[in-house]
Amino acid sequence: MNKVIFVSGGVCSSLGKGVAASSLGALLEGRGLNVCMIKCDPYLNVDAGTMSPYQHGEVYVTDDGAETDLDLGNYARFTSSPLSRSNSITTGQVYEAVIRKEREGRYLGRCVQVIPHITDEIKNRILYAAHEDDDTDIVIVEIGGTVGDIESIPFLEAARQLIHEAGRSNALSVHLTLIPEVAAGELKTKPTQHSVKAMQEQGIQPDLLICRAPVILDEATRQKIALFTNIDPDAVFTSYNIDTTIYELPLVFFEQKLDLVALKKMRIESRHTDLTCWYTMMEKFKARKGTVRIGIVGKYMDLHDAYQSVYEALFHGGLETGVVVELVKIDAGRLEESDNLDGILGPDAPEGRIDGILVPGGFGQRGTKGMVKASAWARIHKIPYFGICLGMQIMVIDWGRNVLGWGDADSTEFDPSTKHPVISLLDEQVDVRNYGGTMRLGKSASRVEPGTQLFASYQRDFIYERHRHRYEFSNTYRTIMIESGLRISALTPDKSLVEAVEWPDHPWGVGVQFHPEFTSKPTAAGPLFRDFIAAARDGKLAQG
Ligand code: GLN
Repeated sequence: MNKVIFVSGGVCSSLGKGVAASSLGALLEGRGLNVCMIKCDPYLNVDAGTMSPYQHGEVYVTDDGAETDLDLGNYARFTSSPLSRSNSITTGQVYEAVIRKEREGRYLGRCVQVIPHITDEIKNRILYAAHEDDDTDIVIVEIGGTVGDIESIPFLEAARQLIHEAGRSNALSVHLTLIPEVAAGELKTKPTQHSVKAMQEQGIQPDLLICRAPVILDEATRQKIALFTNIDPDAVFTSYNIDTTIYELPLVFFEQKLDLVALKKMRIESRHTDLTCWYTMMEKFKARKGTVRIGIVGKYMDLHDAYQSVYEALFHGGLETGVVVELVKIDAGRLEESDNLDGILGPDAPEGRIDGILVPGGFGQRGTKGMVKASAWARIHKIPYFGICLGMQIMVIDWGRNVLGWGDADSTEFDPSTKHPVISLLDEQVDVRNYGGTMRLGKSASRVEPGTQLFASYQRDFIYERHRHRYEFSNTYRTIMIESGLRISALTPDKSLVEAVEWPDHPWGVGVQFHPEFTSKPTAAGPLFRDFIAAARDGKLAQG
């Protein structure tokens, strides 16, 4: 078996476990090792597809069309780990599989139990994901939740068994905790001591400890933690508050020798490290000059996680084009009610003009009227506009309503009885009752039309991006849309579906049916995000 590292968390949630696990992955990749990242989620949902973005944040889609937890997005941004359906393991999947096997009689009449049947299923899934790619050297398994949670117990038990079976040098436990500051400068280690004890009660002795703390822990504090937890002082690291970007975290850990200590414990010969891409990224971060204000017009504006990959990709675009991207979150409902968009988006807005508008993906009718208004405003005022999935459909609806003059133009998702269904289900989809069956999910090819903004960005005839949608640009309206000036900038290779549209005579108005945000990285911004931000920057400069 490959080497495996389990990353667990204690004390409380939201300590940045996903980012810490990803940073460790980035450092090991810097040492030339191939890393495979796996997320174990203790919830009972089979996947994240049905979860509300309000509660759980965005649904991250993999190449093979799995709808997964947003942590996989972190793995994708920090590492080159292969990511597919098998890299996301939920309690729901595990129980579903075990119950199915039980019904099929595959347990030969035995009593089916959490240990060993559920834990075996977890172990098999981890091993399967680990072996799917023969080149994997190290598997990093992040266990969701906090030690002590009832839900996490089977995952921790599976980890205990795997660590025992693999042997200490082949399997590590990395535990993340919080060091709170009760009074100015007074850091408390007790919650960390208890958290490690909780791990020990599960039968797991953590090998490495990452402490979330306001400042880097001094030697005495590390010695103290080490004394109480059986962890070597040189294996106690700090994830301290950084005021730059989360993407500096790999370098923060590198300075503390996190990767070296991990390699030593796994008895992997230390090798040359190359973190050039991370240093270059930080240089770009520091060299940014000026700000562009990007208005994100959506309906899940209160929870940052709901559009996490979009926000991150905009930041990547800013790194690549040398500007700070200010995110202006605009609830589409607010635009719906207003007659004065200039007062919210234009130069009259209290905080100043919006330099670019992005309408992200989404489902359901609510807010779409406001999004159409935002699209029309950006089109008429020649403000860069980027429509992603729903955002592209909005461009088409706006074109139908405001250029072709069909006041009721809509998607049949929002108005099933519209006379101008410019976005609709394909004929073969209409009778399918099971919604899950009609969703277009995962990576597929699009053919890009030369001479378009899209081509200028990708510089390629064929591109491969991920989809997650049900409705399509209606082919009934393709000719009239083209004749009235809307550009179709990409189609599926068989030409049956429209994949992207663009505005004519406009600095940058691009809508894509796919989700380019899932593949953008801080070290390599998605080309559309780069060029959208560049257009916003240039538009702002031209305004003076
Ligand atoms: N609701 C639209 C559809 O199903 C768009 C989906 C999305 O933006 N991800 O086609």
